[in-house]
Amino acid sequence: MRKPLIAGNWKMNFTTSEAVEFVEQLVQASYDENVEKLICVPAVHLSELYKYTKTAGFELGAQNMYYEEKGAFTGEISPLMLKDLNVDYVILGHSERREIFKEDDHMINKKVLSAFAHGIKPILCCGETLVEREADLHKDKIKTQIETDLEGVTAEQCAEMVIAYEPIWAIGTGRTASSSDAYEIIAFIRELIKDKYGDEVANKIRILYGGSVNPENIGEFMEIEEIDGALVGGASLDVMSFNALVNF
Ligand code: 13P
Repeated sequence: MRKPLIAGNWKMNFTTSEAVEFVEQLVQASYDENVEKLICVPAVHLSELYKYTKTAGFELGAQNMYYEEKGAFTGEISPLMLKDLNVDYVILGHSERREIFKEDDHMINKKVLSAFAHGIKPILCCGETLVEREADLHKDKIKTQIETDLEGVTAEQCAEMVIAYEPIWAIGTGRTASSSDAYEIIAFIRELIKDKYGDEVANKIRILYGGSVNPENIGEFMEIEEIDGALVGGASLDVMSFNALVNF
C-alpha cells in the first residue's frame, strides 16, 4: 500500500516573513494522518521554516539543486547545503527548469544521482508540451525522460523516489489532464519502471499527477489507485486550499 503524498510547489513565491506567516497558519489546521504532507519552498526559506514544520508533521523540500557538493558555481545550491538544512525531498527536472533554464536530461540525471548520494529523495518531474501531445509524441518524450534521468539509479533508490507526471500544457493554465489521461500516463510510467526494475519497485514507487490541481478536482485524481498524490503549484499558496487538498 503506497502512502498518498500531497506536495506543494511554491515556486518563486513569498518572502521569508510571508512564508513564516503562512506556515504558522498551515500547521494549526488538522490533517489526515494517512497522507504525507510536503512543501517545496524557495531555498532561502528552508532554515527558517524547519522549526515550524518539523513538529507539525510536514516535510520540507527544495525546488532544485546543483549536483556538485561545492565550488565555483555562482548562484547554485549544493546537496550538502540542503542536507544541512534537514531537507527530505528535492524537485528535479521541473518543466520550468527544463524550458526556461534549459536543463537537459543529462544534467537532470546527474542531479538525481547526486540527491541519492546525499540522502535526499528526488521528486523527478516529466511531461510533454501541447505540441508533443497533439503529435502523439507524449509517450516517446516521457520514455526518454524517465530512461535518461534514471540512468545509474539502483532498484533500491528507485523504490524510494517520487515521479511527478506534469503535462506542461496543464501547468498554471487551469486546464487539467482528464483523470483517464493522467491514469494512462502514470500507468505507462509504472510499466517503464517495471521493465527496468521489476514488480516490487514498480509497486513501491509513488507517482503523482501535477497540473492545475485544486481542492475541487483533486478527488477525481485521488480515487484512481494508480495515482499516488499530487504536486500542486498555485493552489498550494492558500492555507485553506492546501488544507483541503491534503484532506481530499
Ligand atoms: P499548478 O498547480 O499551478 O498548475 O502548477 C503545477 C506545478 O508545476 C507543480 O510543480
